[in-house]
Amino acid sequence: MQSRGGNLDVRTMLAMDRSARLMERAVRRMPGGVNSPVRAFRSVGGAPVFMERGEGSLIFDVDGNSYVDYVMSYGPLVVGHAYSEVVEAIERTARRGTTFGAPTELEVEVAETVCEAIPSIEVVRMTNSGTEATMSAIRLARGFTGREKILKFDGNYHGHGDALLVSAGSGVATLGLPDSPGVTRGAARDTAVLPYNDLKAVRELFEKEGEAFAAVILEPVAGNMGCVPPAEGYLEGLRELTTEYGTVLIFDEVMTGFRLSRGGAQERLGVTPDLTTLGKIIGGGLPVGAYGGRREIMDLIAPSGPVYQAGTLSGNPLAMAAGLATLRASAEPGFYERLEQLGRRWRQGMAEAASAGNTPFTINQVGSMVSIFFTEGPVTDFSSAASSDTGAFKDFFWHMISRGVYLAPSQYEAGFISAVHSGEDLEKTFEAAREWFAGGS
Ligand SMILES: *Cc1c(COP(=O)(O)O)cnc(C)c1O
Repeated sequence: MQSRGGNLDVRTMLAMDRSARLMERAVRRMPGGVNSPVRAFRSVGGAPVFMERGEGSLIFDVDGNSYVDYVMSYGPLVVGHAYSEVVEAIERTARRGTTFGAPTELEVEVAETVCEAIPSIEVVRMTNSGTEATMSAIRLARGFTGREKILKFDGNYHGHGDALLVSAGSGVATLGLPDSPGVTRGAARDTAVLPYNDLKAVRELFEKEGEAFAAVILEPVAGNMGCVPPAEGYLEGLRELTTEYGTVLIFDEVMTGFRLSRGGAQERLGVTPDLTTLGKIIGGGLPVGAYGGRREIMDLIAPSGPVYQAGTLSGNPLAMAAGLATLRASAEPGFYERLEQLGRRWRQGMAEAASAGNTPFTINQVGSMVSIFFTEGPVTDFSSAASSDTGAFKDFFWHMISRGVYLAPSQYEAGFISAVHSGEDLEKTFEAAREWFAGGS
């Protein structure tokens, strides 16, 4: 595909002087100028857009440009930016003190709300990030089973804990390799990695050494290689195998929890894990994670049991208040139906828009998680996702920014629609996309 110079277009169409100046300062004092890598725009080139404020479905940069936001902070903002009840809850709570290092009523309310919404969670522990939640769930599964190995899937992201920053050397992996300098071979050695949606590969591995595996961890609907749904029977098959071998099945619902339905992907797809990790939405935009599951397993966590895990700010009042306000707002009747409708409308509208040209594309959508891949598809695992033309994505990304639509700056991040995105927001998105696809043919 021929580049239409999206990058240059944008620079001349939108003023981005203040963003550029801030980035010059940022790179002097922060690694790559950012506090989390994807924000640096490395995979689309050019400098990141510095944001100043958000309101509903819109985000405003420091140069006065506004965008329909499909990043939504990578998932937490299911009720949109600066939702008034969330903001009020934070304000009200902050006036009474921001942290006590002692139990509070808010923590009990969040725990009750989570357990009521997700019946497989009988007991829950709050953490400060999704990373902490998955690390702790793995430790717990090892403590519970007395085993050391874990199985994860290529293209699934579970935060940056050592044992989870591992990728497969080849297709059949019983030996994990560190995915990052600083992760020891020891930490990686006990992590096996297999392709997503390949039940046969798991069965073969488990026939050989299933009894060595403490846990299988996965995103029940993947969102960290773009949106990739599980194949029919895949989750059910993993449930059966893990039960048969006494392995703990962990659904990492940090992204999908309270997004794909009130009870997360497990409610939507009807498969029950042993442990669930949460984050993002349950913090309402403040830093949060959680893990929970069957009482028999959770009772091993300190202080009720010997598996140690703690946090100075865990269950922080501000985060609990923001989370609770978000969980209340999303309990309104029709909330998830609205997300479904918006997601379906997005899929149709984007498919129509993309059909205006000859660029190959595949759209994956589950509820309000959406992705457009620049490949013929289907996209069912990491290698098919990676067949996307990332050059085309890059050009598309800059075109969309120039038209006031903010997508995640990577082909491998899902897009998120909130309940406050409007029909108008979507139409604007489709129109901008149609323009690009038609121009590309
Ligand atoms: C975002 C995410 C994490 C990590 O959560 P952090 O709060 O960024 O540490 C873990 N698992 C999944 C599925 C995620 O989407």
